[in-house]
Amino acid sequence: MKRAFNFNPGPAVLPLEVLQIVQNELLDFKGTGMSILEISHRSAEYEEVNNAAMTLMKEVMGLGDNYKVLFLGGGASTQFAMIPMNFLHPGKTAAYIDIGSWSNKAVKEARLVGNVHLAFSSKEINYIRLPKMADIKFPADAAYLHVTSNETIHGTQMSEFPSTNAVPLICDMSSDILSRQRNFGKFALIYAGAQKNLGPAGVTVVVIREDMLAKSKEGLPTMLNYNTHAKENSLYNTPPVFGVYIVKLVLEWIKKQGGLQAVEQVNCAKKDRIYGLMDKYPDYFKGTVDKDSRSWMNITLRLPSEDLEKKFLAEAKSKGFIGLKGHRSVGGIRVSLYNAFPMDGVNQLAELMEAFRKANS
Ligand SMILES: *Cc1c(COP(=O)(O)O)cnc(C)c1O
Repeated sequence: MKRAFNFNPGPAVLPLEVLQIVQNELLDFKGTGMSILEISHRSAEYEEVNNAAMTLMKEVMGLGDNYKVLFLGGGASTQFAMIPMNFLHPGKTAAYIDIGSWSNKAVKEARLVGNVHLAFSSKEINYIRLPKMADIKFPADAAYLHVTSNETIHGTQMSEFPSTNAVPLICDMSSDILSRQRNFGKFALIYAGAQKNLGPAGVTVVVIREDMLAKSKEGLPTMLNYNTHAKENSLYNTPPVFGVYIVKLVLEWIKKQGGLQAVEQVNCAKKDRIYGLMDKYPDYFKGTVDKDSRSWMNITLRLPSEDLEKKFLAEAKSKGFIGLKGHRSVGGIRVSLYNAFPMDGVNQLAELMEAFRKANS
């Protein structure tokens, strides 16, 4: 067996150890004589998985019992709509920070529901930089402020978050959740499609504070009301069972490494290896965003010409480096370094980049 160097931006690489556990348990889950794909979501075996995943999620994030963990379907994109449906009450305004394609999509959905105030937008400058905290302006009675911690396509990542006083802070953490230490207690609601840093596609993790749940609108369709899922422990209907099971295994893997402090250390070394090279040869490996807005998870860069980019991607692919092509809306190269991507692969990519530059300057 030869595993690829998987730089896919999402769905993305999973820890090999986790995949091996899945493989070992697949045909007979905990002595049931069935796989987890075949058992009831109401069984004791699944209930244990569900509860453990919720408890571990809060433990790794350092959150207390005033938060609820939900496992939902529909991807992060459904959250773009559910958030305003639940919390943007008639006559109120929701504030959004627009720092890239994903936050822009979130804004678009909120506008279908009610009034939106842009607290900051870098759209005019092609999303190449993030706001300074003082640039973020929103009404003191806003229904909430929505931020995107990591813009997967453009390659920017927020390193701090604004203080919002009474305004609840909501964050799309789809592409950097649990990749570094954060003060998660600052947020009223955090959500993430699992397929980048947490598990497979099909499950969306929502972490919501109880006082926020209480603010949810009356009269919503049952499945689109956060309270439905909170009250039923994410078992109102059939949940994405296999996804939740893998999220649980990934959380155990994170804990085994020493939690977010350890994960952050590794992720910091990984991004430093690639950014270090870009800073050494800035005319050859040209970063596409401002230095102080750089993402640890998705590094975006251009080479001196599109022909060289094509050549580099082809050469990388032939050597087993997969998924390095930039998003079609941005072009260039994108190096996605999620939690499960190993340091060894980063070193090998850096060596390939050095050799390519030497041979093609
Ligand atoms: C990938 C991504 C999404 C979309 O997630 P889906 O689960 O595919 O809906 C939303 N926000 C961010 C920041 C992402 O990276």
